[in-house]
Amino acid sequence: MRSLSKLFVTTIGIGVLSAAAHAQAPWPSRSISLVVPFAAGGPTDVVARTLAGSMSRTLGQTVVVDNKLGAGGTVAASFVARAAPDGYTFFIHHNGMATSTALYRKLSYNPLTDFEFVSQAVDVPMTLLARKDFPANNLAELVAYVKANSAKINLANAGLGAVSQLCGMLFERAVGVKLTAVPFQGTAPAMNALLGGQVDILCDQTTQTIPQIKSGTVKLYGVTTRNRIRALPDAPTLNEGGLKDFEVLVWHGIYAPKGTPKPIIDRFNVALRTALKDPDVLKRMADLGAEIAPDAKLSPQGLQTWLKAEIDKWGPIIRAGGTFAD
Ligand code: ASP
Repeated sequence: MRSLSKLFVTTIGIGVLSAAAHAQAPWPSRSISLVVPFAAGGPTDVVARTLAGSMSRTLGQTVVVDNKLGAGGTVAASFVARAAPDGYTFFIHHNGMATSTALYRKLSYNPLTDFEFVSQAVDVPMTLLARKDFPANNLAELVAYVKANSAKINLANAGLGAVSQLCGMLFERAVGVKLTAVPFQGTAPAMNALLGGQVDILCDQTTQTIPQIKSGTVKLYGVTTRNRIRALPDAPTLNEGGLKDFEVLVWHGIYAPKGTPKPIIDRFNVALRTALKDPDVLKRMADLGAEIAPDAKLSPQGLQTWLKAEIDKWGPIIRAGGTFAD
C-alpha cells in the first residue's frame, strides 16, 4: 500500500514536472496553423500563403495554411473560436468577419469577444468579371443585358459571408435585379466554373483575378475601388462606369482564439509586420493589386477598432437587402 501511494505521488510529480517544462517551452516549438476560411488557390488563400512563407522564416517554425471550408467563412471562424489558445492556431479572414454578423440570424461565435486581435494585413480591390464569351462588352452593356435577361443569368459566389456575395449583392441592388446565386466553397472553384462557362458573372479579389484578366480568359467590367488601381491602370472603376458610389475594398485581419497569451500575439504581430516589409512579399502583393494596410491598422487595437466600425457600417446595408441565413 505504501509503495503504491509512493508510486502515485511520483507519477503525479512527473506529470507536474512535464507540464511545467511544456509551459516553459519556447514558443514556437512546432508548426503554427493559419486557418483560411476558403478554398486553396483562391484570393484569400493566396494572401495567406504569401504571408505565411515569410513569417515562417522570422518565427523559425513553419506557418502552415489550413483551409477550413464552409458557410461563407463561418465554419472556420467557429473552429478558431473554439481552438486551444496555445499560440498554435491563428486565423486570417476578410470583411466577412463583420458582414456575417448581419447575414446570419445566429452565429456560434462573437467576432468581437471570442478572438484575440493580431493585426490587419493587406487591402485588396475586387473586379467584376464575366465568362469570356458573355455577350456584354462593357459595364453599360452588362447593366442593360442583365436587366433584360435576369432570369437566365447566374452569379457565382463563395457563400453568405463571402465578399464575392457582398459585391454581387451590391451589384444586383445597383442594377435593380435578382440573379441566380451559385455558391462555392471559395472563389477558386467559382473561377474554375467561370472559365468553364458554367457560371456567368463573378466579383472577386484581384489576388486571384489579375492573372486571368491579363491572360484574357475572362471579361472585365471594372474595379470596385473608389479610384483606379496601379495593377490594372486601364480598368475603369464601377463608379466611373455608371454604378454610382459602388465601393468594396477587401481588408484582411489576423486573429487568434481568445486567451492566446499576449507575448505570443505580439511576436506573431512582429512576424507579420516583418513579412509586410519583405521585398518578395511586397512585389507579389503589388503584382496582385494588394496594398499593405496603413501602419495604424497593423496592431491588435487597430484591427479591433476597424472590425467594430465595419460591423456598424455593413449591418444596416445588409439588413436593408433582407438576405439572411440561420
Ligand atoms: N473571394 C472569396 C470571397 O468571396 C474568398 C476566397 O475564396 O478567397 O470571399
